[in-house]
Amino acid sequence: LRGIVAMDGPSGTGKSTVSRRLARGLRARYLDTGAMYRAVTLAVLRSDVDPTDAPSVARVAAEARLTVGTDPEHPEIRLDGEDVAAEIRGERVTRAVSAVAAVPEVRGLLVSRQQEVIAEADGADVGIVVEGRDIGEVVAPQAGLKVYLTADAEVRARRRTAQDTAQGRRVSLDETHADVRRRDEFDSSRAVSPLRRGTDAVEVDTTHLDVAGVLAELFR
Ligand code: C5P
Repeated sequence: LRGIVAMDGPSGTGKSTVSRRLARGLRARYLDTGAMYRAVTLAVLRSDVDPTDAPSVARVAAEARLTVGTDPEHPEIRLDGEDVAAEIRGERVTRAVSAVAAVPEVRGLLVSRQQEVIAEADGADVGIVVEGRDIGEVVAPQAGLKVYLTADAEVRARRRTAQDTAQGRRVSLDETHADVRRRDEFDSSRAVSPLRRGTDAVEVDTTHLDVAGVLAELFR
């Protein structure tokens, strides 16, 4: 594949699994923009900055040295050289990430970085699958294929809990369900809402579909 695939939607819809599978199958690159917001959030927490203190958050974000890889087999994310892939999936980061992602300076900084990574792949005539919340509408409106995944909140919470358990974290389904609802609300209600579905996006409801089912739906 050449060109850009934008994969948007709330958490637990299978975005990461579908995006990585698609990128592998198409021999394309893969960019996880959520991981970038999570890594900045980790930097904020490590600096002992309150995630709701926007000016301080903006300062930490400007100083953080982020490295992001685009290999769908090994998506790499580093903060000041350190591999933080596991730590950014933890509960502390998950709880604080929406507040950090709401800071306009953070969005400005990360959207530019994402556009650079996309331009680099595109310039080399390599395809790239980009997952996030605002890819089709803000980061890469020129994407040739825009996908918007949805799923019932309860199914999304169940998927997230299974993922957490597989990665060795113990969280209850109730807690995850509450977190999914809280993040949905936050991500879609704030003034600079990142969660956007464009009119030109193909919407797929993944509630009753596995990865193969979603891909079949996209390419039928
Ligand atoms: O996709 P993931 O759940 O890892 O994203 C974590 C958080 O990062 C989201 O809840 C959202 O607040 C933020 N995010 C964003 N814009 C994106 C990707 C993620 O605001 N493009």
